Amino acid sequence: MTAAGGPPVDQVRRAMARVAGIIFPGRCLACGAWMDGETDQSVPVCARCRIGLVPITDPRCPGCGMPLLVEEGRCTRCRTAGYAFASSTAVFAYRGIVRDLVIALKSGGRRRLVLLFAPFLARLLSERRPGTAVVPVPSRPGRSGPDPVELLARELERRYGVQVLRLLRRRPGAAQKSLSLTDRLRNLQGRIHVARGARPAGALVVIDDVFTTGATVDACARALIAAGAARVDAVTLAVD
Ligand SMILES: [Zn+2]
Ligand SMILES: [Zn+2]
Repeated sequence: MTAAGGPPVDQVRRAMARVAGIIFPGRCLACGAWMDGETDQSVPVCARCRIGLVPITDPRCPGCGMPLLVEEGRCTRCRTAGYAFASSTAVFAYRGIVRDLVIALKSGGRRRLVLLFAPFLARLLSERRPGTAVVPVPSRPGRSGPDPVELLARELERRYGVQVLRLLRRRPGAAQKSLSLTDRLRNLQGRIHVARGARPAGALVVIDDVFTTGATVDACARALIAAGAARVDAVTLAVD
C-alpha cells in the first residue's frame, strides 16, 4: 500500500494540491508572476526564479562557508569566534530570491518550499559529509506553525535516505535576534541540550536553515561534543 513517496494520506494530499495548482495556479512566491503555464507546479516558484537559485561555489571560508573573494583561509569572523564545530557549509548566500524564499518558508508557513530546497541540501550533504548522520537544530519551544528545519529533516529522511537523529532539545529563553554574538552564545549555552537518554557518538552534521552568527550551530556542536560526539560539522541552507 505504501508506495514510494510516503503514506497514502500524503499521496492524496499531494494529488489534491496538484489539482488545486492546475485550477488555481497562484503566483510565484519570488517574483509574483502567475504560475499558469509553468511545467513544474509542485512548488510556487517559477522556472525563471529557480534559475536564480545558484549555490555558493569555492572559494569559501572553511569555517562558516561564507563566499570569499580570494582563497585565504578562514574569514575574519571565524578566526576570532572559536567555534566548536569543525566546519560549516551553506548551499546559498542569504540574499535576493534565496532570502525571500527562506523567509517565506520560516515565517510564511510555505511548507512546499521544502521540496525546492531539500534536493540542494541533500546534494551538499552527500558531497561534504557522505553517510554522516544529521542532527536538526532543535525548534524553539512555543513556535507557532511547523519548524522549517524539522520539515527539511523529514524530507531528507524520506526522500534521500539521510539518517536523521533528533538528539537535541531547546529550553525557552530570550529571543536571539537583537543580541550580539557574545550575548547570543551566552543566551544559548545550556538552553540547547542533548535529549534525555540520547548518546551522541562519532561524527555528526548539524543542519539549520540560516547561519547568521554561528551561535546556534555552535551551541548544538558544544552540547553534542560534551555528550560524546567525536566531531560535529554544520550544513545550512544559507549563510548570512
Ligand atoms: Zn518567479
Ligand atoms: Zn568564516
